[in-house]
Amino acid sequence: MAAMTTGLLFRDDAYLKSATAQVVAVRDGSIELDRTIFYPTGGGQPGDTGTLIRENGERIAITNTRKGEALDQILHICGGTPTLEVGEPLTLEIEWSRRYALMRLHTALHVMSCVVVAPVTGGNISPDKARLDFDIDIAQLNAERIERETNELLARSVVTETVWITDEELDARPELVKTMSVQPPRGAGRVRLLKIPEIDLQPCGGTHVKNINEIGAIRVLKIRSEGKHNKRVEIALA
Ligand SMILES: [Zn+2]
Repeated sequence: MAAMTTGLLFRDDAYLKSATAQVVAVRDGSIELDRTIFYPTGGGQPGDTGTLIRENGERIAITNTRKGEALDQILHICGGTPTLEVGEPLTLEIEWSRRYALMRLHTALHVMSCVVVAPVTGGNISPDKARLDFDIDIAQLNAERIERETNELLARSVVTETVWITDEELDARPELVKTMSVQPPRGAGRVRLLKIPEIDLQPCGGTHVKNINEIGAIRVLKIRSEGKHNKRVEIALA
């Protein structure tokens, strides 16, 4: 079956809580749509959950969202094979409170990565906490300092921006890629960056808050070693 490209509405507007779309394909356990507000698992951010609603009111629970094999192909994960017609219009609703918590924590990690100056070797985000792993001497990681300096940056109330550059421009500026474990996706000819003016600029395809003041403040939950090159800093919203 030819893979379809899904329109990624969350990429231009991370605040869309609902939208309409048409069914493109139905498989055992997943649904493809012509466009979506559901973010697929990637870059340390889990896939969205939510509901697809048919015109007759029938609701289909989406328990996860994943990338398909093709570029920009998105699979909405559901139980079984739902009764849906290709071309059928649906209303999409994401579980917004969960996604918004992920957006706040995700953007907080961008800011925190500027307080700890070291290569990032891993990261993960969940609705209640998030972490980055750094290749650094653990003696240099001070929870109180990381918390204070991150919160000072968050208090600047800076508006975030999405910037696109070409693969060639990114190749010419390798210092932009802090995350060794997650190389930005290539092959589309351009790469999306998150810019937090005066604070951070790095490739990222995730969903972010518009203004870092929406994060409020963070607290450091723990710092521990997860291996020679992985010193982990875990945070939560304060
Ligand atoms: Zn990001």
